[in-house]
Amino acid sequence: MLHFITPPTMPNQDPRSSPEYRRLVALAARDDANRQRGIRVTKVVTGDPSQRLAALTFDDGPHGWRTIDLLTILKRLNVKATFFVVGKMALRYPEIIEQMVLDGHELGNHTYNHYRLPTIPLSLVAEELNRTRDVLTGIVGSPTRLFRPPGGEYNDAIQKLIAQEGYTNMLWTDDPADYKPGRTGEKITELVMRDITPGGIILLHSGLIATMNAVPIMVNRMRSQGYQFVTCSELIQRGNGLLHLQNVPARISRTAAT
Ligand SMILES: [Zn+2]
Repeated sequence: MLHFITPPTMPNQDPRSSPEYRRLVALAARDDANRQRGIRVTKVVTGDPSQRLAALTFDDGPHGWRTIDLLTILKRLNVKATFFVVGKMALRYPEIIEQMVLDGHELGNHTYNHYRLPTIPLSLVAEELNRTRDVLTGIVGSPTRLFRPPGGEYNDAIQKLIAQEGYTNMLWTDDPADYKPGRTGEKITELVMRDITPGGIILLHSGLIATMNAVPIMVNRMRSQGYQFVTCSELIQRGNGLLHLQNVPARISRTAAT
């Protein structure tokens, strides 16, 4: 996993007064125009910073009983999340994929084998997308429109392919590096709470005990600050178009993965 450049954050500042917000508004106007011409949102790096919404995303599963336990935790908390699943894992645990959908979660395509996409030929990238699309369609009857590249790694050619295949490249704002050895639920929560801002997309992973410990603490703490949890598609729909950023760095995170 790579580390990311961390832009400066000013948590107490009204996000609407920032140059970044004004840039987003200008881009939103362009995005609205694009939508009217039928162009889909092809890349998302944040939700609308003026709404206290956040999306929990869980990558890499399903991981058997651990993911089943995570689904139980999310149900108890009444949180709808987004699962970026790996095709070969979905094939192994189709009943967990079904349960995710039954519970109201959203599915995303996270490739078939979890290769680092910039290191493989573009034809193989296409195969990675398509195999997982076929697996998910076979299980739940419809393809997902969301895609997340492993490690957030992609290049212009891959982004173009993602868009051509009808996907939205769904990145994130906050990465507490929940996979790091020694992480605890409290530490993961602390890193998220330090940097989270409205419209945040939180990168977590399926199958980690520390993450399962973090989720209830994080959800309760964020709710006490007025956050509502939504799926990625809902974040896009409710975002007034403040989402489509073509000219941002390939990887972005407000949370230092340390
Ligand atoms: Zn991954």
